[in-house]
Amino acid sequence: MVRRLQIQADIGNDGTPSKKRRKLEKLGENASTAFASQHAMEAFQPLHAELWWHDGNVIIAADQMSFKLHASVLERHSSVFSELLNDAQARHNPPELFEGCRVLRVDDKGVHLAELFRVLYDGGGCVLEASNIIYRAHSASCRGFFDWRKPIEFTDLRRITLVAIKYKVQHIIDEAVVRLEYLFPTSFDPDRLDSDFYIGVHEGHPVHCPEAANAIGVAALARAIDHENPPPFIVMALYRCTSFDAKTLLDLQSYDEQLASVDLSSCLGAITSLETAVRKVRGPVADALDKPMCSSKVCHSGMKSLVCEWIRSGMFSGPYPLSSCERGFRRHAEKHPNKKVCKSCEEGLIKAINERRRELFADLGKIFNISTWPAGIQAKV
Ligand SMILES: [Zn+2]
Repeated sequence: MVRRLQIQADIGNDGTPSKKRRKLEKLGENASTAFASQHAMEAFQPLHAELWWHDGNVIIAADQMSFKLHASVLERHSSVFSELLNDAQARHNPPELFEGCRVLRVDDKGVHLAELFRVLYDGGGCVLEASNIIYRAHSASCRGFFDWRKPIEFTDLRRITLVAIKYKVQHIIDEAVVRLEYLFPTSFDPDRLDSDFYIGVHEGHPVHCPEAANAIGVAALARAIDHENPPPFIVMALYRCTSFDAKTLLDLQSYDEQLASVDLSSCLGAITSLETAVRKVRGPVADALDKPMCSSKVCHSGMKSLVCEWIRSGMFSGPYPLSSCERGFRRHAEKHPNKKVCKSCEEGLIKAINERRRELFADLGKIFNISTWPAGIQAKV
């Protein structure tokens, strides 16, 4: 209002009527542009403090945050942004502008897009605004998202990956897949299949899954990446999910991160088949009772004691048939130093058990109906 009154005052001091009209029109345009800019400024608040480049040429107006970025950077990394920017240009005539920059309005949360843009611009050195203490301790330098010395908590990785999926930023999706394959391996490694390998915070792990239930989120993320042909890390994530009993698994479906219905069905079916598999995988120990592997009476009595101990501690009945048995032998030897299985028999049994673990690992694709499972493909050949 103040500005319009000022316009009238300026006109009053001018010369000819035609000049007056032209000046009026010109000032009117300026005023409405200024008014629109002021209005747009309010609509864009708050502007992101760092992701507001002075030489940017496009404004992304998201939920509660706006960014002034470079169209070429967005187009380089994201085919979706590329299409949106071109589409917005074609449809809005004249295009919505702010400070001479095109404006693209999106409905994502600004904090989520900020994480994505930081990865695009600087590799994600400060990508995680969430409370990731370990990450912050290592975040002195840039390129954090692609630097494995900087672990990421799964919930943070999931959030960034979901935005990357929406905008088809392939190198971020690829990085998430590679990191998750470390915890949920796709090839047989007897030392990386224990139940406690992925839960918790372990030095050197590129992703931290503090809770057992994170396995559900990992399987769900695999489906979000490609529903029909999920990346193979989904198989070990589903295997981890079978450590829950059926009721817990169903209860956990009420949370944000849920198993796809096909995966829930596979897991419920697999709980029983994997319980049977435990007995089969560790069968060589029970078989050695009937057919002693050496002539030592001490070893044979040690074998009896070992089987009793394993039955008592649930080694023949619990979940996790793929877990190694070395600790089972070690625990027994410490507890019963006079009833030890001899070294040669122990090594032979561990080898036999590992062979059965390898066979079960290869069968997981069939158990969980995942055709992309590499072990499954090898088995067909
Ligand atoms: Zn022996």
